[in-house]
Amino acid sequence: PERSDVHYFGAGPAPLPSAVLERASQALLNYKGQGVGICEISHRSADANEILADAKAALTSLLDIPEDYEILFLQGGGSGEFSAVVYNLVGVWVEKRRAQAEKDLSASTDAKGEALEQKIFERVQREVKEELRLDYLVTGSWSLKASQEASRLIGAEYVNVAVDSRKANNGKFGVIPSESDWKPTPGNKAAFTYFCDNETVDGVEFPQFPKSLEGADAPWVVADMSSNFISRKVDVSKYSVIFGGAQKNVGNAGITIVIVKKSLLPPASPQAAPELLRRLNLPIGPIVFDWPTIAKNNSLYNTLPIFDVWIAGQVMSDLVSTYGAKKIAGQGEISAEKANIIYGTLEQYPNVYKVVPDKTVRSRMNICFRVNGGDEEKEKTFLAGAQKIGLLGLKGHRSVGGIRASNYNAVSLDGAKKLVTYLETYATGA
Ligand code: PLP
Repeated sequence: PERSDVHYFGAGPAPLPSAVLERASQALLNYKGQGVGICEISHRSADANEILADAKAALTSLLDIPEDYEILFLQGGGSGEFSAVVYNLVGVWVEKRRAQAEKDLSASTDAKGEALEQKIFERVQREVKEELRLDYLVTGSWSLKASQEASRLIGAEYVNVAVDSRKANNGKFGVIPSESDWKPTPGNKAAFTYFCDNETVDGVEFPQFPKSLEGADAPWVVADMSSNFISRKVDVSKYSVIFGGAQKNVGNAGITIVIVKKSLLPPASPQAAPELLRRLNLPIGPIVFDWPTIAKNNSLYNTLPIFDVWIAGQVMSDLVSTYGAKKIAGQGEISAEKANIIYGTLEQYPNVYKVVPDKTVRSRMNICFRVNGGDEEKEKTFLAGAQKIGLLGLKGHRSVGGIRASNYNAVSLDGAKKLVTYLETYATGA
């Protein structure tokens, strides 16, 4: 089929706006009439700097990102940031404790030189053992993976799974237990609390920012927004770190966007020296995941795939033009409308369709449902029928099966309506 005959509901990589791809095909051949394509220009050129600045400006405008946040572009995907979060934030936490210990012990003891250093080290070592904890809210496959990576890097004894929603739902993801049932590190004293705002595989999305993570006393909040990035209004000031791979709502695979509070970067917050981390048996991250290094170099510490940044920039700039003063809330309205008509239709035929996650937490982005009680043959027939009329990419994740309609920004309202019509046709046998 032609591109225009198809509506694609893939979960990632996901559809991109055709208008951006048309412009991309030209840019690949000859960027700005200079006879060289965009993938061929230097990441250190003025053009590359402009592309980066434009992408940052568009994102800042869409999400109203406050001045005290830095935007970074990295490689390594969302999964890379599972690791980077641990390396970077543990590094900041340890340095804060070291600096405090130095201050306290210099004032309260006569120890000097090596003796003082040793006392400082012993106190930090004790605090790491007794107090360093990382809280994870495990509400689906991706936050589970992130928590497993944290355990792998730093040791399971430092990782507190404050919620495992499978325990509240017969061993399966699909709910988010109420906050009063969460088990954060006592006193809410974790170094950070990590959650995945939208669980791509399980179709579970946080309806709003968790109340218990608000306020100055809350741990640093880290959110994986890989699959609902720029799909609704977000109060960035509530987060310490937001990250997301580009390949769902923003662009193509190849870059990850990190929005990080400047107070977690030098000079406000230096990270612990590698020598100290090594003595403490804490992990030292690869330099390409080191946010301070990436920030200091305007995301150009090493070769950045500028084409990927350009695509994301084009997508975001188009959203800025489309939604004007509404900014990302304009996209939020459309995302909700598309999700509502699809869920609404699924609910009309309870004998044929069953939405997998609980109604209170179901995702606007990844609509997961079963057909005919999850009968595999019938689901195959459902998918084949969809494919015949150009509705593609509807197969559920291999780990959970079923159907998943991913409703990212580039899925048009028209596409959502075509899916609704198919759902009705299938359900009524018409
Ligand atoms: N986080 C979420 C929510 C995802 O959906 C994905 C991938 O689908 C990832 C992280 C991992 O991203 P990547 O494949 O870019 O490492």
